[in-house]
Amino acid sequence: MDKEKTESLNFLETIVEAELQDGLTELHTRFPPEPNGYLHIGHAKSICVNFGLAEKYGGKTNLRFDDTNPVAEDTEFVESIQNDIRWLGFDWEDREFYASDYFEQLYQFALRLVEKGLAYVDESTPESIAEHKGSPTVPGTPTPARSRSVAENRDLFQRMRAGEFPDGAMVLRAKIDLASPNMHLRDPIMYRILHAHHHRTGDAWKIYPMYDFAHGQSDSIEQISHSICTLEFENHRPLYNWFIEQLGIFPSRQFEFARLNLSYTVMSKRRLKQLVTEGLVRGWDDPRMPTLSGLRRRGYTPVSIRNFAKRVGVARRENVIDLSLLEFSVREDLNKVASRVMGVLDPVKLVITNYPEAQTEQLAIENNPEDPDAGHREVPFTRELYIERADFMEDPPKKFFRLGPGRNVRLKGAYIIHCEDYVKDESGLVTEIHGTYYPDSRSGSDTSGVKAKGTLHWVSVPTALPVEVRLYDRLFSAEFPLADPERDFKTFLNPDSLQIVKTAYVEPSLRSATTEDHFQFIRKGYFCLDPDSTADQLVFNRTVGLRDSWAKKQNKR
Ligand code: ATP
Ligand code: MG
Repeated sequence: MDKEKTESLNFLETIVEAELQDGLTELHTRFPPEPNGYLHIGHAKSICVNFGLAEKYGGKTNLRFDDTNPVAEDTEFVESIQNDIRWLGFDWEDREFYASDYFEQLYQFALRLVEKGLAYVDESTPESIAEHKGSPTVPGTPTPARSRSVAENRDLFQRMRAGEFPDGAMVLRAKIDLASPNMHLRDPIMYRILHAHHHRTGDAWKIYPMYDFAHGQSDSIEQISHSICTLEFENHRPLYNWFIEQLGIFPSRQFEFARLNLSYTVMSKRRLKQLVTEGLVRGWDDPRMPTLSGLRRRGYTPVSIRNFAKRVGVARRENVIDLSLLEFSVREDLNKVASRVMGVLDPVKLVITNYPEAQTEQLAIENNPEDPDAGHREVPFTRELYIERADFMEDPPKKFFRLGPGRNVRLKGAYIIHCEDYVKDESGLVTEIHGTYYPDSRSGSDTSGVKAKGTLHWVSVPTALPVEVRLYDRLFSAEFPLADPERDFKTFLNPDSLQIVKTAYVEPSLRSATTEDHFQFIRKGYFCLDPDSTADQLVFNRTVGLRDSWAKKQNKR
């Protein structure tokens, strides 16, 4: 508790605390995704901000689907969004809303503005509307439609709704101020004609509200007290306030924060969708994608993502967060919760020549040294084992604490062995290593007095499970794939972002792994079972390595 108290408040918490002192009684936020794609890690930040603020101060958070654009939206996306928010650990209870449920109400709002002489139907072409808007330094001029009578506007708007006109024939515009220094106030478009099928309202509507006429009003309808969004919408705020004032509706207040940007990452649904539809990744949930479904499949935990969001913080200054901070957050959590197991990715056979051929010992090895309650599991030990090829050198340097002729090494949870000899094939590849073990050197009851500097992981040959392992690197090889507007961001895709390893063996306990489990393959990183797994072929994804190898690589350069 004390620790939490001394944690500094972010700017939104500072505002809310001051307002609570001033008598704010209903803190009500919302998370308003457009169901036109899967949620990404940027959305996770927004979810944590909105739900987190309400949770902290006893408020409520709505989930509202901002589904005013019929063309791009789909129920597949609605379901994935619900799933992802629940997975992150947040609950909107019975407060699930759809902007499309407000279409009638929004239409009535628009009609009210028409009646007040504050909105007009304009059949000018988009080019003409743009031209008449002027520029930030040149005031706009009215199109002929601006002086239309209320009666005529009402009639045309009603007929727009009735579907009497084709797409694009005319729009409804707010009548505000063509000379405003804020371009959003220069008679923005409120409604457009679109004969399109909507995933919820079907063919009922031939006109659809623009985002700027739907979003703020939806907040008011739901009596959202704090409408939190990203900085791009700062300039829209005067427009939203104008609508609130003219319509006399609930005064939701908008607060903006800096969006999350991540290095080596592209974070826009539109671009992520391109990667999916062009087959450049395996789907929205490809483990290399920054989507929540991708991160989940990769082995990220909800806790790690919430901690990441906390670390990144909420501010009004634009910045780019290093991807390694996200990796750090998952490593930190997995270190606490992942079961330690053994898996050999690039195996070579080790034969312990003085170990009885028919013998199998079940060694009890602890599941997680970080968690005293995690217990032990039995791992079979036999005369023939697989070890990692890179853990043996024919002629190792002094500092190499692994295996080489005449050297000792500890096998994790088992015995110290002494390397006697090795066999090579005609190409010079080492095919087998021969050693002897010290029978009284068993871990936990070692009375041998023999020394070994290194400890190796291993898998017993007769019960080894052959598995596929997928190793991932960053999806983009450029730190800022969008920095150069002249270059297609897809040209920065990292060709080595996925490496499929077909040679791996893991210990038999992994036979019962589920996609919910998290593992540390000792010395190899954190892994989880991929849903592509079948009874015959288990597939493991590496979530992240044990250390930030990327930072090391960069320092060397
Ligand atoms: P994208 O550009 O990826 O399509 P969007 O803003 O168009 O994102 P929405 O579905 O409209 O997607 O976003 C829902 C909410 O998530 C909005 O309130 C938006 O501000 C927030 N959000 C989107 N991207 C980020 C980000 N990178 N960081 C923080 N919040 C974000
Ligand atoms: Mg959007």
